[in-house]
Amino acid sequence: MNSSSDSPFQVLLYYRYVHIPDAADYLERHRELCSRLELKGRILIGEEGINGTVSGETPSTEAYMKALHEDPITADIVFKIDPAEDHVFPKLSIKLRHEIVTLGLPDEADIDPNQITGERLSPVEFYEAMQEEDSVIIDGRNLYEADLGRFKGAICPSVDNFREFPGWLRDHADELKGKKLLTYCTGGIRCEKLSGFLRREGFERVYQLEGGIVTYGKDPEVRGRDFEGLCYVFDERVGVEVNRTETRRVISRCRHCGIEESRYGNCRLPECNAQIFVCPACREKIGLFCGEDCHEDFCAKSP
Ligand SMILES: [Zn+2]
Ligand SMILES: [Zn+2]
Repeated sequence: MNSSSDSPFQVLLYYRYVHIPDAADYLERHRELCSRLELKGRILIGEEGINGTVSGETPSTEAYMKALHEDPITADIVFKIDPAEDHVFPKLSIKLRHEIVTLGLPDEADIDPNQITGERLSPVEFYEAMQEEDSVIIDGRNLYEADLGRFKGAICPSVDNFREFPGWLRDHADELKGKKLLTYCTGGIRCEKLSGFLRREGFERVYQLEGGIVTYGKDPEVRGRDFEGLCYVFDERVGVEVNRTETRRVISRCRHCGIEESRYGNCRLPECNAQIFVCPACREKIGLFCGEDCHEDFCAKSP
């Protein structure tokens, strides 16, 4: 399945939309399992399913996957596995949530991906669909994620939060009308709802990249082709490589001098905290700030 079992640690990314009858009780049992295996990471559990990413020593992550595959609720869950040298999360957090990915539609308008969702495309099918003339590629993530890396030619909506997508898509419906819509996200979970939403809005040709960018990068045939930059991940690694072909390139740039820079930092002004690219030379000269405004504010407040 994956050769990453040679590494001391593994990072798992997974989700499953499945009805969990007593989610609070399920959560407690799940917490015990994770604590026993000394996993760290973030897991959301709700009546609509489970969404998680964890790191752990390889035997522990293997035991975790086995336990979930033996549980009828999660028997079909798909794990994306990355090798690692250590944990990539500081702690374990497991939370109960109404939605395991928050699109924030009113209850009666909520999307159940088991009822309505876009057609799933394998990495090879997705690559081929991207080449078609009437295709529109939609990045289903936040703009700060797309800034680090995205598919060549993709539309990257200017949203800071997944909840803003329905509004953005409605505002841009005219540009999308009649097109073949290809959605993608990190591991596939956001597209389950996003593509379902597009279909319910009346779009007919709606597709989603099954398993997301992470799976696309591991596919032996496409090898991440035409994904530019790194894939943003919500752990200490921040960005991971995707493209292993000659089309690989860095797209993110230092906001001060414009040279290639793919390491994110947070603006040191606490009220700002924006995720920005600043190269080492500019960090030295200007500091890790968005610009003069944040720098001056910071200096004014520091003794
Ligand atoms: Zn710079
Ligand atoms: Zn700032």
